[in-house]
Amino acid sequence: MKHIRNFCIIAHIDHGKSTLADRLLEFTKTVGARDMQAQLLDDMDLERERGITIKSHAIQMNYTYQGEIYTLNLIDTPGHVDFSYEVSRSIAACEGALLLVDASQGIEAQTISNLYLAMNNDLVIIPVLNKIDLPGSMPEEVKDEMVDLLGCERDEIIPASGKEGIGVPEILAAIVERIPAPKGDPNGELQALIFDSHFNSYRGIEVIFRVKNGRIRKGDRVKFMNTGKEYIADEVGTLGLEQVPKSVIECGDVGYLISGIKVAKEVKVGDTITELDRPAKSAIQGFSEVKPMVFAGIYPVETSEFEDLREAMEKLQLNDAALVWEPETSAALGFGFRCGFLGMLHMEIVQERLEREFDMTVITTVPSVRFEVITTKDETLIVSAPAEMPDPSTISWIEEPFIKAQIITKADYVGAIIGLCMDKRSLLKNQVYLTQDRVELQFEMPLAEVVFDFFDKLKTISRGYASLDYEFIGNRESTMVKLDIMLNGDRVDALSAIVHRDKAYEWGKKLCEKLRELLPRQQFEIAIQAAIGQKIIARETVKALRKDVLAKCYGGDISRKRKLLEKQKKGKKRMRQVGNVEIPQEAFMAVLKIN
Ligand code: GDP
Ligand code: MG
Repeated sequence: MKHIRNFCIIAHIDHGKSTLADRLLEFTKTVGARDMQAQLLDDMDLERERGITIKSHAIQMNYTYQGEIYTLNLIDTPGHVDFSYEVSRSIAACEGALLLVDASQGIEAQTISNLYLAMNNDLVIIPVLNKIDLPGSMPEEVKDEMVDLLGCERDEIIPASGKEGIGVPEILAAIVERIPAPKGDPNGELQALIFDSHFNSYRGIEVIFRVKNGRIRKGDRVKFMNTGKEYIADEVGTLGLEQVPKSVIECGDVGYLISGIKVAKEVKVGDTITELDRPAKSAIQGFSEVKPMVFAGIYPVETSEFEDLREAMEKLQLNDAALVWEPETSAALGFGFRCGFLGMLHMEIVQERLEREFDMTVITTVPSVRFEVITTKDETLIVSAPAEMPDPSTISWIEEPFIKAQIITKADYVGAIIGLCMDKRSLLKNQVYLTQDRVELQFEMPLAEVVFDFFDKLKTISRGYASLDYEFIGNRESTMVKLDIMLNGDRVDALSAIVHRDKAYEWGKKLCEKLRELLPRQQFEIAIQAAIGQKIIARETVKALRKDVLAKCYGGDISRKRKLLEKQKKGKKRMRQVGNVEIPQEAFMAVLKIN
């Protein structure tokens, strides 16, 4: 145990975490130069393309320091608010953290939120000033920020460049010297914290854990304390670039377990593994079930592909424990699935994986948060889709989820950002100048407002100089209403949304305008109406195609006609028919783009 160090790297997105991790692996010869490809730990295609870490990974390195060999376990953490519970469990598996700050950017929202998580777990923080090779770096200013934030000494900050390999030996030395060895009782009852799991189609689920007390041996009968499930430890081992099977994983160390588990859902991050014959008295603190925060319908574009979509969803769920779904029907879209996601990024990931890995073309409906509706009979209904909203006369009140949001930006944009947040029904709770030019703002805001294009707007009004992080703080009462859209008198269920009453009129008006732009003209007029209950609150009209335009098209030469037909066929791929009106896919997402 004396020679083990468990650490993670916390950083804002793009501050160089993956690049530095690569350098550490190289320097400790964990990977040979031959196997080196940029950003080794981000192995999902999507992660590489987006340059973000979606799933966390752990990797073990050996490092000789002053003649002694140390085992360094690097626990990589996902870098997005959607996955903050996973981050918190990864941090709970460590004794120390490298806090990486880009010398040309300074401290950002994620730096701070992750730092707080690390400090809550009493981690030793090693401050690293990264990207000092950049011509635009401002080492002295950013060091000032770091000293202010951490209360550390200036000379504790290690200047580095993951790209150029500067500072790597100093960082490794600091990991050994400053981060304490793990504590724990090697002969006590087994308590191992599950902080990650991976899906392997041949071997089942690989569970990644950190032993807090006792040890885990190959062949042990084990029990997951929160789910109550029992397994045999068919294989245990450590994680290098490949898995290295071992006969035992000792107290303080990090390892993997394979025991024939087929379904990701059985393995819950934050759960405790113990030995069946000599169980621990209690589970490790901090376990909670991850709850989906955002809900949307997913439908196949071709209605005949419903069964294929079901199969794809089942497969996705095998390796994505956070994804939940159930069948749903929509009058407009047919058979599909109601899905729950951790957040907007998670939703996008699922949609993209369905399209790439399973070759499905899907329509996703307007996302919603989870409302609690208290009825006049004093019952509490969970409503996460407009269709589930009961008749207004039966509602006593409605509660919606609120978040605490942290935004860091330049002083110039403070006014505009406060304006935007106020418009999103937010309360400004705090405003702190980190330096003369950089400000931290804290808001309480409804999650429902973030679900619509808040990120995009924030980026636009701050020209990219704003970072955002948030956490769920609880439900609050709000006057929400269900807003319906009708096309030629038919309600289009997939276009309904739950919105705040004060915003319903503006919302209805803008949505009608947007739909007028998006709906293709047809041979007849289309009336677009927004309604709350029976009351029409907005109306737009799509004019009919002029006869002569049609005549021209269809009277034209044959090749042009064929081209036109082909084009129409392609266009149809993402069209849906409601009554006699054809609706393109974009229309179902139009709600997200309303200003
Ligand atoms: P992550 O999001 O924190 O994992 O960041 P990455 O490691 O993916 O790096 C983000 C971008 O910054 C990439 O384009 C890297 O090539 C670049 N980068 C990372 N470290 C350095 C560095 O030390 N110097 C410079 N100039 N660029 C870097
Ligand atoms: Mg990364």
